[in-house]
Amino acid sequence: MTGFGSLVAVVTGGGSGIGAAVAAEFRARGARVGLLDVQPGTPSDDGLLPVIADVCSRGSLEAAMATVAGAFGGIDVLVNNAGISSVGTVEANDDDEWARVLDVNVTGIARASAAALPYLRESGHGAIVNLSSIAATAGLVQRALYSASKGAVHALTLAMAADLVTEGIRVNCVAPGTVDTPWVARLLARTTDPAAERARLEARQPTGRLVTAQEVAGAVAYLASPDAGATTGMSLAVDGGMSGL
Ligand code: NAD
Repeated sequence: MTGFGSLVAVVTGGGSGIGAAVAAEFRARGARVGLLDVQPGTPSDDGLLPVIADVCSRGSLEAAMATVAGAFGGIDVLVNNAGISSVGTVEANDDDEWARVLDVNVTGIARASAAALPYLRESGHGAIVNLSSIAATAGLVQRALYSASKGAVHALTLAMAADLVTEGIRVNCVAPGTVDTPWVARLLARTTDPAAERARLEARQPTGRLVTAQEVAGAVAYLASPDAGATTGMSLAVDGGMSGL
């Protein structure tokens, strides 16, 4: 697969799980990476620049994009990975919970994209990859709000792709199944029988195991790369066959 040469990527929510794996994959291919997260902790090196930034704050994102572009000379790729979970039915989730989750999972993508677009336009081969989920299409129980937020990510991906295609900027999303990350560990820890719940999640995917963060990172890297130069407005499932079989 194509190396990333002098590419500069920004990954939101890059401090954990899938975002950290995406950052590592991009670094391994030679890209320089701005890693935006609300949590500090990732050490910097000459090609990795952690920046504290909140996708709920337009000002924070504009400052972070300027910091990354200033350090690395521009931005070519934005990976909108930051996201939060929500468990429950429509009766369980109140208005505050709806506002909180949609603000991060949906509006956060719009904000980060708006902040990155001036740099992506200058790149000449800009690409955005959004993190959606199998929850957007699978009808999962107890995931009303989370599923609605990820369905919106699909729609937003398509609309942004349409708006930006004439400018040469591609927009796609990746829709993982259940991925073995700290997020899932936290969800399992809240259940009465974590081992049984993990076994249920594994069995739900035809491959019989959880997806790895590395497998999602590979799909994100493909969509961000020139290899996917003719692909925009698409959702790529990385779900152990859950949606396809
Ligand atoms: P994670 O909880 O391990 O990591 C998420 C990161 O996002 C954390 O570092 C967190 O600090 C950061 N973050 C949260 N709110 C933020 C904000 N307001 N601004 C900036 N950063 C913020 O989660 P993960 O499993 O790696 O999930 C990453 C993405 O993948 C999410 O969008 C999630 O919906 C999606 N996804 C995950 C799974 C899964 O099974 N893990 C499945 C499908 C989709």
